[in-house]
Amino acid sequence: MTQPRSATNKKSKLARPRQLLGVDVYAVVTRNNPITNQMITQDINNLASAIWEQCGITFFLRRISRVTTIVADKEFDQSVSFGNQPAKIRNLINFRPPGSTRLDITVIYVEGTTFRNNRTVGATLKFSGQSGPRIATVIMASQSPARVRVLAHEFGHALLYNPVTNRNTDPTPGLDSAGHVPAGSNPNNLMLASVPLNPTLNAGQCRAAARSPLITSLIQLINKRKVTAKSIRR
Ligand SMILES: [Zn+2]
Repeated sequence: MTQPRSATNKKSKLARPRQLLGVDVYAVVTRNNPITNQMITQDINNLASAIWEQCGITFFLRRISRVTTIVADKEFDQSVSFGNQPAKIRNLINFRPPGSTRLDITVIYVEGTTFRNNRTVGATLKFSGQSGPRIATVIMASQSPARVRVLAHEFGHALLYNPVTNRNTDPTPGLDSAGHVPAGSNPNNLMLASVPLNPTLNAGQCRAAARSPLITSLIQLINKRKVTAKSIRR
């Protein structure tokens, strides 16, 4: 007589479902910007998602909006606070891509290899409570060779942020005021100030990012509209 298989035994043979968490992303591209829709789609859906796969987090590009605002190479000054930016930049950041909500990340691609300081390639503007156009806006220099890994790093700033407390949620010891992990104890960590080539995330960062309000379950994402590229005049 064969041993009856218990329900518990049967269950343990099934693969444990992988944690799959999604984040909706909208892209905004300034005028005269050479970055193609294909590059943006690949960066967000494939390359940044591959880096975040270790946390079970996937990014979904929902729409690309090409706007008429021109932001030239080295024009964006990341050291200036949002309120003191020129009206053109404030309007660009306040732009809400059709279909987007406060809980989606918007990535604004400006022209150039760096921002004004000749060094910085990406920045994340965070708004607490109900202020600002949304919780997290990423600004990227389109033509930087480090664009993909810096984009993944900026997604980290967006996901490791609590808009209620206005605090960074990364539990890594020794975090600096900008939310970067100390170099010595975290080789190759995505949240180092200087983003390494093959970045990794630690378990605490994955747990904290999974609790971000920007995370939407994949089940909900399935029914959403596919990515469409659209020109918007403004
Ligand atoms: Zn950073």
